[in-house]
Amino acid sequence: MRWPCDNTFVRDLGWLGVRADPVPVRAPELLALDDGLAVELGLDPAALRSPEGVAVLAGNAVAEGCEPIAQAYAGHQFGHLSPMLGDGRAHLLGEVVDTHGRRRDIALKGSGRTPFSRGGDGRAVMGPVLREVLVSEFMHAVGVPTTRALAAVATGETVVRERPLPGAVLTRVAASHLRIGTLVLVATQGSLEQLAAVVEHARARHHPDVPPQDPMALLSAVVERQAELVAHWMALGFIHGVMNTDNMTLSGETIDYGPCAFLDAYDPETFFSSVDTGGRYRYSAQPTMALWGLARLAECLIPLADGEADDLVTQAQERLEDFTPAYEQHVLDNFRIKLGLVRDVAGDNALVEDLLQIAADESLDFTGLFRDLARVLRDEPTPTLDRVRDVARWQAWRDRWLTRLHGEGKAPAASAQIMDETNPVHIPRNHLVEEALAAAHAGNLAPFEQLLEVLRSPFVEQPGLERYAEPADPDFTRGYITY
Ligand code: AMP
Ligand code: MG
Ligand code: MG
Repeated sequence: MRWPCDNTFVRDLGWLGVRADPVPVRAPELLALDDGLAVELGLDPAALRSPEGVAVLAGNAVAEGCEPIAQAYAGHQFGHLSPMLGDGRAHLLGEVVDTHGRRRDIALKGSGRTPFSRGGDGRAVMGPVLREVLVSEFMHAVGVPTTRALAAVATGETVVRERPLPGAVLTRVAASHLRIGTLVLVATQGSLEQLAAVVEHARARHHPDVPPQDPMALLSAVVERQAELVAHWMALGFIHGVMNTDNMTLSGETIDYGPCAFLDAYDPETFFSSVDTGGRYRYSAQPTMALWGLARLAECLIPLADGEADDLVTQAQERLEDFTPAYEQHVLDNFRIKLGLVRDVAGDNALVEDLLQIAADESLDFTGLFRDLARVLRDEPTPTLDRVRDVARWQAWRDRWLTRLHGEGKAPAASAQIMDETNPVHIPRNHLVEEALAAAHAGNLAPFEQLLEVLRSPFVEQPGLERYAEPADPDFTRGYITY
């Protein structure tokens, strides 16, 4: 098997990693393959499904054209610098230029030990691998920049965590795997020349509109991408769960779906990860934590800029100060559309905030709420809103909203349609994901496949699949942790 690779990372920055092949597994079996994505990457889905192809996706063989490398990077984990992390269970196989002319990394995750494994076994568990497939495909379907899942392969091997679990390998596709943590490693342990080389690689690849050798402009470009990204997350009720600087990309794609989950009952202080004991990465803290990570990026870029140290720090601070207004504008734009509003009118922010306050006080299902608002316009049943106890407060808000909508000069049906194209009816609800993963563990992939299909059309209400739109039992959510 031959892949049409052009491996610029290995060629230009090979010193920033260790060439290493994936470690073979005992009995590879294909769990999932995204045919459309394969074609987009210039790969033949039928060939990937063949035993030879599955061997490549399992790490048992290396396709011609690939030059596997484990990348080195650092990262701040829950606020503390880990000076050397790196791919401890991942191999970048190579890069392809896709049918749209975009350069994409193709990497394996769970593909065995590397020089960066430290105490780890280099492996991944089937549950989290399939979870990444589900959530990343949903994020793609709703238009959020994200890494993609090309394939998942069961290894036929057991991985020991708290208990023995089935292993799997994920094939992840990304604009690149360059992270803030990549620059942190080079800025703290490399030479200025090395830092300049990595920064130039990232600029040319992800921010070609930024002039070369203008680190402050590059900082601004990443600030803007992250502001836009986190605003997307907030509008979906997405909680990433582990926004360490090794999990923040320079491309602005969402990466690392480990402990992520979605809000159901709206409570901005929600977090689901047991690792995140203090709730550092809770829903409401995500913009602040993104800015915190961007400040670490700024520290890496300052040494590359020309000027007096004090002056450069001030410049970097000014760039970072652009984050909050940019983020707030993106969030407002996103929520405006969620309410069917296209024009920019003073007071819209208060309208959004007052609705979210009702949602918080009434513990309304975040996804169901916005879907219901379009139903209000169509005089259809509103299962989420029917749970509101303070009806007068809700109706007062509704009347404000309807007046504001009237000013848009559109028919209610047209506004409802805009809303239905923005507010998903289907999200990877925690209980549905867990149900699909449990069945997959037991050898039945049908619920996973059904859920994946639903999540690939997240805006479409499908007769017979109503249960895929319903919230979890509150008891399920109260005790729910991702890991
Ligand atoms: P994450 O929390 O998934 O972003 O991973 C943080 C770091 O731990 C990365 O360097 C991973 O490669 C590494 N890591 C996580 N799990 C394992 C494992 N099972 N074996 C080796 N390294 C791991
Ligand atoms: Mg990670
Ligand atoms: Mg992870």
